Amino acid sequence: MTPKAKKKVPRRKISRKRRYRASEEWREFSMEFLKRMPKTDLHVHLDGSIRVGTLWSLAKEQGIRLGVRDLKGLRRKVTVGPRVRNLVDYLKVFDITLKVMQEEEALTRIAYELAVDAAKENVRYMEIRYSPLLHLDHGLTMADTVDAVLRGLKAAESRYDIHTGVIVCGIRQMTPARSLELAETAVAFKDDGVVAFDLAGQEKDYPAKKHREAFYRVLNANQNVTLHAGEAFGARSIHQAIHYCGAHRIGHGTRLLEDESLLRYVTDHRIPLEICLTSNVQTRAVDRMEDHPFRYYLDRNVRVTLNTDSRLVSNTTVTKELYRACRAFHLNHYEVRHVLLNGFRSAFMHYRKKVDMIRQVLREIDGIMGEIFPMDDLVVLQDWRSLERTRR
Ligand SMILES: [Zn+2]
Repeated sequence: MTPKAKKKVPRRKISRKRRYRASEEWREFSMEFLKRMPKTDLHVHLDGSIRVGTLWSLAKEQGIRLGVRDLKGLRRKVTVGPRVRNLVDYLKVFDITLKVMQEEEALTRIAYELAVDAAKENVRYMEIRYSPLLHLDHGLTMADTVDAVLRGLKAAESRYDIHTGVIVCGIRQMTPARSLELAETAVAFKDDGVVAFDLAGQEKDYPAKKHREAFYRVLNANQNVTLHAGEAFGARSIHQAIHYCGAHRIGHGTRLLEDESLLRYVTDHRIPLEICLTSNVQTRAVDRMEDHPFRYYLDRNVRVTLNTDSRLVSNTTVTKELYRACRAFHLNHYEVRHVLLNGFRSAFMHYRKKVDMIRQVLREIDGIMGEIFPMDDLVVLQDWRSLERTRR
């Protein structure tokens, strides 16, 4: 070989076609297989994700009547069926769970158990959200509630392979002044585990822009923002979340597809969508799982992530969400890998820590996938390079 020819050896380019070579045919992944995958849960409500047994025993300990005779009856009462009438009905279950979540010990226990349950299905990173304002009935301060939740999460982190963060939620139906108080609480715990501020509650009739002062406060403190938007209301709600409130991520985003220009903006700026499939079917944001725009977003290169929303109320786990997505949208192995990585890429975690975590989980995912599919080393290599382009 002449020196010239040696110099000319080109780096092999991977065509799009070749990257998908091993996955042209859809195959069904088992729950066990998907459970082994390292995962994230970026959208999960603490008050919607309490173990039913814990709800029962806490109510007994605290002398609270739940209006049911046994555990079975309680499970029926707090787990909504395949569908409810609307989001408002779905949110009614939270009135029950909140009753037992007014003491520090209870909050610590519930947070701990939630992180443990997640770790057991290989969730490696989880952001738990709740609104401190809803836990003050027995005299706790907002800071007390955050301390209690963080204690539970830290205890789980010390025993299990999971990292966590807390997201403080404002509530749309409350006054902007209350949102500002919550924003102050989020900022006060910025370096102690609260990673972001959110706005939850009823979308219709309660526009996010009314609460923009709270978001200014959080953004000015260099803290992250995510907002429930485009779940029970149209794309205009997502527009407000991004352009009035500075959202770095969107909770749900189910109706983003109604605005082509905004969809392009979300895609261009790599704004992740925290998609919760089961919950969206239950609240009738979509008619059937198959009608969810998840596949459309994925094909349009929107950064989609899969999340539980409420483990108890929706009777779900991240593994179940992934399994349902695989079945409804015929995800191939490359797409499963991509969606899993999207979760880690979208985490509100500091950059270096995040890159390290992505490197580790990438190796694991490819190891597990490699048991079924012969992975192309070059595909892996290319992903390593793309890490440097990872935003957030
Ligand atoms: Zn939610």
